[in-house]
Amino acid sequence: RIRNDSTLEELIEGILQKDRAALAKVITLIESRALRHQEQSRTTLQKLLPYTGKSIRIGVTGVPGAGKSTFIESFGYLLCELGHRVAVLAVDPSSTINGGSILGDKTRMEKLAKHPNAFIRPSPSGGVLGGVHTKTREAILACEAAGFNVIIVETVGVGQSESIVRGMVDFYLLLVLTGAGDELQGIKKGVLELVDLIVVNKADGENVTNAKKTMHEYNQILHMFQPATTGWTTKAAMCSSLTGIGIEQVWEKIQDFIEVTQSSSVFKERRQIQIKEWLFSLIKERLETSFFSNKNIQEMLPELEHNVMNDLTTVPDAVDTLFSAYKKKDS
Ligand code: GDP
Repeated sequence: RIRNDSTLEELIEGILQKDRAALAKVITLIESRALRHQEQSRTTLQKLLPYTGKSIRIGVTGVPGAGKSTFIESFGYLLCELGHRVAVLAVDPSSTINGGSILGDKTRMEKLAKHPNAFIRPSPSGGVLGGVHTKTREAILACEAAGFNVIIVETVGVGQSESIVRGMVDFYLLLVLTGAGDELQGIKKGVLELVDLIVVNKADGENVTNAKKTMHEYNQILHMFQPATTGWTTKAAMCSSLTGIGIEQVWEKIQDFIEVTQSSSVFKERRQIQIKEWLFSLIKERLETSFFSNKNIQEMLPELEHNVMNDLTTVPDAVDTLFSAYKKKDS
């Protein structure tokens, strides 16, 4: 059993034994900003690495109210019942806007959370971009080592979160509402180029006719876009997350996608590109932190800032001065 004072060895062992409490603790370590925790999480991930990579990573995006949590619950539950082990890295709605809940106080995905094959982890509020976190990639690896073979990463369609999630998943799904019309419900057009499937949600009751129409409209629009994945045509489908109609078909589509992309090696290549991008983005992040926490830089920056703003120094010259000072300190 995992205790509060469990050692790293015990946590790693716990994860490999598919213990969800151990997984939750390790994700807490991963997300911690404390230096000691960061060291521990690096050690842990290094040990877990051989057990990672064997899942299907699915991104789910959509505007607030599109039905993401309802969909993920319904979809995740179906997969759990089919014997899959499903981990959800979810958005915590209480941290979405100004710390206040925009979706009421309901507990999200309560039914799925109780399934023995499921693990749900809401993103913490700090450093979040539409619910995605700089540490989400590491959390995915930890979930995989804990034996989860389907990982769902949820994001609210704001800011750059969509393209960030594209960089960490195999399959990307956009959930939309009926009645899209020509305005596309405020969905940024760029997002259509990132996704592998559009699902018109809430296709139930009187909404079914509308949903069909919307699906058709999206299929028309999609003709004008380059598909996100080589060898795969992005299409629109529809479902009701409430009644469950169409949910199974979404899973079938995803299985088709995996088959197609794995036999063409597009799947493998994308993962390798993603790892490389991760490497470079971490390097940039570290460099930035190192630069701005450098003492010389901190001392010089205010004056240089003043100088460039008052046309006393050019920006390239100021940057050059800063970098000379930065290198001096470090060498
Ligand atoms: P999120 O903000 O994207 O996570 O959206 P939610 O999952 O919280 O759903 C927003 C609202 O839409 C809730 O009141 C849901 O009950 C409702 N909803 C979600 N999916 C469906 C559906 O398939 N049919 C209907 N009729 N309502 C739905």
